[in-house]
Amino acid sequence: MTARLLDGKLLAESVKQNLKKEVDALRQKTGLVPRLANILVGDDAAAKTYANSQKKVAQDIGIDYGLINLPEDISQKKLIESIEELNRDPGTHGIMIYQPLPAHVDYRLVAECVDTAKDIEGMKPANLGKMLLGGAKIIPATPAAVMEHIKSTGVKLRGKEAVIVGRSEIVGKPLILLLLEQSATVTVCHTGTVEAGLLTEHIARADILIVAVGKAGLVKGEWIKENAVVIDVGINRIGKTIVGDVDFESASQKASYITPVPGGVGPLTVVMLMKNTIEAFKLQVKG
Ligand code: NDP
Repeated sequence: MTARLLDGKLLAESVKQNLKKEVDALRQKTGLVPRLANILVGDDAAAKTYANSQKKVAQDIGIDYGLINLPEDISQKKLIESIEELNRDPGTHGIMIYQPLPAHVDYRLVAECVDTAKDIEGMKPANLGKMLLGGAKIIPATPAAVMEHIKSTGVKLRGKEAVIVGRSEIVGKPLILLLLEQSATVTVCHTGTVEAGLLTEHIARADILIVAVGKAGLVKGEWIKENAVVIDVGINRIGKTIVGDVDFESASQKASYITPVPGGVGPLTVVMLMKNTIEAFKLQVKG
């Protein structure tokens, strides 16, 4: 069979329309709109391009967006002071810090200074802990984008074999909790799985396969279960092209649904950050 394509741009558009309606309703109810403050340290051109695309998505939805561009040589103390100022500002509801930060700054320490209610990246221990308890409102953006793609297929997760390849803090680990919350049976693979020679065995069982490794074409079509839903989070640059962690050509002969790279998970990730900004607003502003 040939898999149906999970088009991230199309899905992002439809989620954006829903978020726009939500922001309109919040404006009517409270007289306010959510505001997202993005902190960018230094002059990295790629980060500025990304910031511009975020600004456009925010504006499309009706979120007020502010880029705070600080000098490369800013001290850690001054950077923390800027964050604390945003924490105190009742008009700022979400704070995001671009990575990487300059080498003299400890990202973890700085990120820990963001107010938990404004942590729209959802990576503070308190927000990760809420995911463990279930029903969290702020979910890290990439795992949230993966779950949105799965939801769009209409496939019910209860009792399904979900296999995640990759256990990073920003993708694999949060997905364990999100899939478990939907009552999937979850397996997580990593380098230890590879060393044990068990990677293909686990992948062959997956009704839902999520790959977030960072190795071009790692997962081959012949490893994949017939009719699996395949979500490829990987972004690998090969010369001027970008490819995923799944060999798209062969995998799309086996899967029922598959995300392309680029154009699958990526476009939804920014939209999920905006969703988190709206959730943060709702937690902070009582209408
Ligand atoms: P990390 O490097 O933090 O984690 C990679 C994970 O893959 C680790 O858990 C590692 O195992 C595991 N791994 C490495 N090699 C293998 C292998 N051969 N087989 C199985 N598992 C393996 O990566 P990230 O999670 O940050 O990113 C993964 C990919 O997703 C990258 O390509 C990145 O660019 C992309 N990405 C895309 C995003 C998007 O919005 N679309 C957002 C974030 C990331 P171990 O823990 O044992 O070392």
